[in-house]
Amino acid sequence: MSFAFTPPSIVGLPIAGSDDRFPVRRVYCVGRNYAAHAREMGFDPERELPFFFCKPNDDASVVPVAEGSTATLPYPPLTSNYHYEAELVVAIGKGGRDIAPADAASHVFGYAVGLDMTRRDLQIAAREKGRPWEVGKAFDFSAPIAPIVRRDQAPDVQCAGIVLEVDGTVRQQATIAHLIWSIDEVIANLSSLFTLQPGDLIFTGTPEGVGAVQRGQTMAVRIDGLPSLSVRID
Ligand code: MN
Repeated sequence: MSFAFTPPSIVGLPIAGSDDRFPVRRVYCVGRNYAAHAREMGFDPERELPFFFCKPNDDASVVPVAEGSTATLPYPPLTSNYHYEAELVVAIGKGGRDIAPADAASHVFGYAVGLDMTRRDLQIAAREKGRPWEVGKAFDFSAPIAPIVRRDQAPDVQCAGIVLEVDGTVRQQATIAHLIWSIDEVIANLSSLFTLQPGDLIFTGTPEGVGAVQRGQTMAVRIDGLPSLSVRID
């Protein structure tokens, strides 16, 4: 059997302290997983639980960013409100379904810093019409990710600080401890909907302070104890 043309390659994310790469399977994202962000988007976190959506897993969408380097991303088409969302990314190393929260940590390969880049104007227009979110969330270069730190080498990310700066000015500053669904609960909930497999990534949601970024600006995202992520918009 041969393919009619060269099949697309699997994205490999750098792993801190290793020459191995993490092969990306699916890219899941959690929506409105911080109460203050849910409120800034006009929703009541007391009444609505977080939820899931996906991004593509291909090498056009997922952008591995080496430690200490700045990736340059093109400003995406057909938007005039291009937003950053700083997020903790959980990398799955062991698959499963209906995973109990108490067992969730054993399914984690490691953690990374990521950006859930968003065409906010297109996302909100789709949301208001009850349409899917792909045009707002699942576009090319929408998921830059810094190197993964293996779980046994990672800090306690459950209460790590998360900060996003644009050109040196702090725009998002929170703690992972503010997650509505904890990392364990995200894995448990997601695995009740989809069978998780090694290689899956989960963007766990963004804290408050999202906003627009313009051409020529540089975003720096830091989570305590993980390699930081630096992205410039061209
Ligand atoms: Mn997000």
